[in-house]
Amino acid sequence: MAGPRVDFAGPSYRAAMIQAIIRAGFLEAFVTFCCDGTTQTCPGKFMNGFSRGVAMRRLLLVIFLCLWAMTGPAWAQRLSGRGGQRCRLVAAHAMVLKPARIWDGISLKAHDGWIVVVRGETIEAVGPADTVKVPEDARTIELPGITLLPGLIDAHTHVLLHPYNEALWNDQVLKEALALRVCRATNHLRSTLLSGFTTIRDLGTEGAGYADVGLKQAVAQGIIPGPRMLVVTRAIVATGSYAPKGFAPELDIPQGAEEADGVDSLIRVVRDQIGKGADWIKVYADTAMGGASVRPSFSSEELTRIVETARSVGVLVSAHATSKEGMRRAALAGVATIEHGDGGDAEVFKLMAERGVALCPTLAAFEASARYAGYRPGTDPEPARLKRARMNLKAAIDAGVTIANGSDMGVFAHGDGARELELLADYGMKPAKVLCAATSAAARILRLDDRLGAIKPGLLADLVGVAGDPTRDIKTLRRVKLVMKEGVLYREP
Ligand SMILES: [Zn+2]
Repeated sequence: MAGPRVDFAGPSYRAAMIQAIIRAGFLEAFVTFCCDGTTQTCPGKFMNGFSRGVAMRRLLLVIFLCLWAMTGPAWAQRLSGRGGQRCRLVAAHAMVLKPARIWDGISLKAHDGWIVVVRGETIEAVGPADTVKVPEDARTIELPGITLLPGLIDAHTHVLLHPYNEALWNDQVLKEALALRVCRATNHLRSTLLSGFTTIRDLGTEGAGYADVGLKQAVAQGIIPGPRMLVVTRAIVATGSYAPKGFAPELDIPQGAEEADGVDSLIRVVRDQIGKGADWIKVYADTAMGGASVRPSFSSEELTRIVETARSVGVLVSAHATSKEGMRRAALAGVATIEHGDGGDAEVFKLMAERGVALCPTLAAFEASARYAGYRPGTDPEPARLKRARMNLKAAIDAGVTIANGSDMGVFAHGDGARELELLADYGMKPAKVLCAATSAAARILRLDDRLGAIKPGLLADLVGVAGDPTRDIKTLRRVKLVMKEGVLYREP
């Protein structure tokens, strides 16, 4: 095309752009928003005095212009294509983290004296301090006494629920406004991230529609702090099988998941949920219909068609199953994970192992439910369900089933995800194996292992620092001192 060429990357152009930004009076706001390091408060500062829409448009403009002006269009283009996440500007410099030791997500032992170099959003190098080349411009973060490990993953959460001893599940689904639930969820996401979990698979909004899709976008665009999310939207249940229930049969009560039956209806719902943003499909393979004991909700054919429909567009299926027959049908249908699995036995766990189906044990939710019913851990005898869960976990591991950390957080407090890992250790798993379940194994199960789950060059810089050595004592996961997601520090000592 004819016309004057502008050197967008040239120094005079950049200087002019910076001047223009200063004249517009936005630089201070930009610095406040982007660089003061207080993630939660600075958006509020910037929004003061502006209508939200105008402020957001100005903010996006300022970010774009500053990036363009300071680093040239290639960088700005790269960022704007990813939603312009805040603070990436800061992360462009290299950082060297020098902890007491590094657990890489794979080995059974932590490595004393290792360091890690982070550049931008990825890990550039890791290894013994005397062998890793440290970039000259790197910012060094000394982390004495701290173990650095990969960002933790929880493969079973519900950010739109809060603990049932605060409000019953029925009341949350039927009485809490969607806006209220979303506001709570933003707090839940922040707590989860700051407790060291940088990735979650959120398994159902429980009556909050497609709010998980918007929350995922808000995190990805840097609007709110939180772990990266994989979402399932509404989850799929057989008609009449789910809740809330117990109302007059004449009333049409909104349900906590989407009802569908029969192959045609299920195919439509799977496609509809994926079209609306579901990264995974969640199906309830069994429930307690009509108050009876737990029975399979769907036929084998229905489950198989759900899996085939999802898989044909590259989406995997998670099945809630607490009965042996529900687990068996789900495993044969080809689901990737089974949630809870407390009706399992050696036979069905062997089937899961053969078919590569992982188990999310959700022990912390079982324990929380027992506590809400009056159980006092350490004082009272262990309730039957917890005893069964303890035996099931051993049977699953003995059969060779991969354990993925999945806690059902939301039944209990967000930010308390370490509880599942403590219970896995208490139930007999070695601490390093527990950590694998929350890092490399979970990443593999979620098909994210090309980007996450270990500390090795080329992977995303999701890192957590804890005081002490979690490969020896899992309880040190409670002492989170540093959280980095994609090279951005959200917490540091
Ligand atoms: Zn759940």
